[in-house]
Amino acid sequence: MRRLWLLLVGLLLWEPVGASELLALRHSSSPERTRVVLELQGAAEGYRAARLRAPERLYIDLKGLRLSPRLERSIRVGRGLRAIRLGQFDPETVRVVLDLAAPLASYKVFRLGAPERLVVDLYWEPRPRRWRVVLDAGHGGKDPGAISPWGLREKDLTLALALLVRKALQGEPNLEVFLTRDRDVYLSLEERTMMANRLGADLFVSIHINSSPNPQARGLETYFLNWTDDAEAMRVAARENAISLKRMRQQRSEVAAILASLSLQGKRDDSLRLANYIQRGMVSRVGARYKVQNLGVKYALFYVLVGAQMPSALVEVSFLSNRQDERLLRDRRYLQEVAEGIARGIKAYLGDVPLRYLAQR
Ligand SMILES: [Zn+2]
Repeated sequence: MRRLWLLLVGLLLWEPVGASELLALRHSSSPERTRVVLELQGAAEGYRAARLRAPERLYIDLKGLRLSPRLERSIRVGRGLRAIRLGQFDPETVRVVLDLAAPLASYKVFRLGAPERLVVDLYWEPRPRRWRVVLDAGHGGKDPGAISPWGLREKDLTLALALLVRKALQGEPNLEVFLTRDRDVYLSLEERTMMANRLGADLFVSIHINSSPNPQARGLETYFLNWTDDAEAMRVAARENAISLKRMRQQRSEVAAILASLSLQGKRDDSLRLANYIQRGMVSRVGARYKVQNLGVKYALFYVLVGAQMPSALVEVSFLSNRQDERLLRDRRYLQEVAEGIARGIKAYLGDVPLRYLAQR
């Protein structure tokens, strides 16, 4: 009732602002707050703001204002604020719509002068409980994963790494870490994300070791889930999915719906961000001590990520098929650095997002 009343007041009162053009838009975020700044040329006649539900959004109408033709009409933001949309609502009025992905505790709209600006502050709801991270050691049991020509097995390395990442994250007061497996057992790809879903995990990281028909290939790369036509990325995914490349190519229509729904929920953007943080975390940490080939962030259709109801990424750590990489993988100190790097990426990601999935539960 109070909200309705506020909304009505918001609709009825035009706050005087005094301009002609919306020139630019900036935004910045911390876990607690997102700030959007609208830069105006001169001053608008007035503004009003109101919050709408289903879907959650906030809109601000600025009267006596035109939209600069140079401004993008839709800006993807990520985090709790999914996107900002701009439109000329009528010849006199610019409408700014903020699409929200996280529960909003409150918001504030105010103007600042010299230069003329309108500032929108969004305050996110505080976090109800600790973050839940699920680490998935790839393969296991009857499935050894890739095996190096010198006998090193992927399933042993992924387990060693998952245990080291867990150790590196221990002591973080806001984190709970779970492993899909902590010993040499077989798990199907579906079981891994089902476990994460059951736990209501906030993110899922699958750990793997790369391998390629090209013995020169080496380095670190991180993937997020998406369709790709890139032959190399598709080859990596086909190997991890234990299916043929031909079968991979036939999947397109089957996965289109899944990917579209992930994209709608903003989870693909979060997964991309998670993958970026992990890749950067690994490269920066490992690179301080070892020469690193940074293969970057890529995307492909990994079955193990398909069922995840939370942001997810898959790490491919070095190549068992490359002699130098294989030597590194035998070096406990190297694994330690990789694990610290992955942990660094996870922490950076969690420090960056407001707790949208937690609060939604
Ligand atoms: Zn693997």
